[in-house]
Order: sequence, then C-alpha cells, then structure tokens
Amino acid sequence: MHIVDSNDAVRAWVAQERAAGKRIAFVPTMGNLHAGHLALVRRGFSLADRVIVSIFVNPLQFGANEDFANYPRTFDEDRRRLTQVGASCLFFPDEKQLYPHGREASTRVIVPGISNILCGASRPGHFEGVATVVAKFFNIVAPDVAIFGEKDFQQVMVIRQMARDLFMPLHIVSEPTVRETDGLAMSSRNGYLSPDERAQAPVLYREIRKVADAVLAGSRDYERLLAQAASTIQQGGFITDYLTLRNTDTLQEATDETPDKLVVLVAAKLGRTRLIDNIRVVRS
Ligand code: AMP
Repeated sequence: MHIVDSNDAVRAWVAQERAAGKRIAFVPTMGNLHAGHLALVRRGFSLADRVIVSIFVNPLQFGANEDFANYPRTFDEDRRRLTQVGASCLFFPDEKQLYPHGREASTRVIVPGISNILCGASRPGHFEGVATVVAKFFNIVAPDVAIFGEKDFQQVMVIRQMARDLFMPLHIVSEPTVRETDGLAMSSRNGYLSPDERAQAPVLYREIRKVADAVLAGSRDYERLLAQAASTIQQGGFITDYLTLRNTDTLQEATDETPDKLVVLVAAKLGRTRLIDNIRVVRS
C-alpha cells in the first residue's frame, strides 16, 4: 500500500495511475477503521482498479462541545487493516494540507435545506464542515467514484446534492450499513460505550427494525409506531434526539401521500455517546 501525507504526493500518485489507464475509487474516513469502512474499500474494488482511503479527523465538522479532541486516532492499526484488505493508497494529511490558511479562513461549501434538519439541526455547522472537507478531497484526489456509508444516510444526501449542484465530475456510490451480530451499527463512537451501555445499545436497531417491519406489514399509524419505539428506546437509557419516518428522496416527514420509499432514522444519546442509525422501508 502506498502511503502519502501531502496533497502533492497523492496527486502525483493518482496522475501516475490514471496515465496507466486505472480507474480510481475514493473512500474518505476519519480513521479508527472497522468492518463498515472496509466494506466501502471492497466496494471500491468492484467499481475501480485502485482504491484510495483518506484518514482525516476533520475539525470543521465538530461542534465546540463535541468529541474532536477525544476522537479515537489509531493510525497503526488502521494501516494494518487497510493493508490486509488490499487498499492501494492511504492518504493521511494533517490539518495544514486541508486548511493551509487556517480553518476559519477557508472557503465553505453550504448545501442548503437538507443540512439544517435532523442531525444538521442538532449539530449546527456539521454538514457545512463535511461538505467543505469532502469538496476539498474531491478536488485533491479527483477520483472517478467515491463511496460513502448509508449509516450516515443524511450525509450521503448532502454529498450527492453538493456533487450534483457543483457539477463535480465523479460518481457517488453508497454502501449498506455493516452491523455487529446483535444489530448495532458499527461506529467508531461505539468504543465510547461502557460495557453496560454497550449491552443496551442494540435497542436502537431493534426498535427502528420493528417500525420498518410494521410499515412493511401495512401499518400506517406512523405516530403510534414511532411513539412506541421512542418509549422503548428511552427505557433502554437513551435520550432521543430524533426518531422519525421520512421520505428517502426528500427527507421530509412521511405522510400517507408519501411515495414508495421510506426510511426510519434515529439519533440518540446514551450517556455521553451520540449514536445514529437508519433503516430503509420499501412500502408495501
Ligand atoms: P467515518 O470514519 O465515521 O467518518 O466514516 C467514514 C465512512 O464510513 C462514511 O462514509 C461512513 O458512512 C462509513 N461508515 C461508517 N460506519 C459504517 C458502517 N457501520 N457501515 C457502512 N459504512 C459505514
């Protein structure tokens, strides 16, 4: 695996591969890699000849009281996993590469509307930080295709809209959520959970699964379904930020007129750890 830490070096590597006729896939991450990240890398190889993975804990997408300082940084283990899965190139820039004139002075990318609801409402500026850093990475790496996890459902929608609106010349592909055997969506933040919290955490998945299954079975009493699930999640010790049934294309509230595709989305805090999850529903 080729390892680079500067914009110039990654550009040189991509130029060389492209000159050899290779198609390039890109997987942006914040490191602390787990099987969910590795699934994105494998998907990359089904779409391209070379897969570049970036590891960068982006300060711009963290709020002032969030976990930027404590976010797990496990470079050696990440490098080992990426070597094992056969990634072609690891791009590990420092903040100076992405924000050479300081993060406050940087041009920002704002994707309106969708950035301000759900996670965007609870985490002001979060999606602006995400869109900004991903736009920078797209311009540095210039991949043919970029792969994102559906675990961050709203994030994929923000990136797709950005790429579409700014005519970015690449394909955006999403990959299903990889879960632990008890259903908990894999996340770097799961490592923050105490053993007791970890035992409680799968209730999130179980409850959104129940809502999705009930809708699939024909229930249209969304309010009651969501209220029941919220109550069980709360009994599990979570403080729910949102638990909602939305249209997959617009992320607007599901109504009886909503077309076929729906998604159940949840964000909730267990102790100091904020977890998110979602499940798509194909309406019967
Ligand atoms: P992160 O390192 O958390 O910023 O995530 C990097 C990429 O991995 C994003 O596109 C995430 O959506 C994706 N990802 C994170 N967790 C999972 C998971 N459990 N399954 C699939 N993709 C994931």
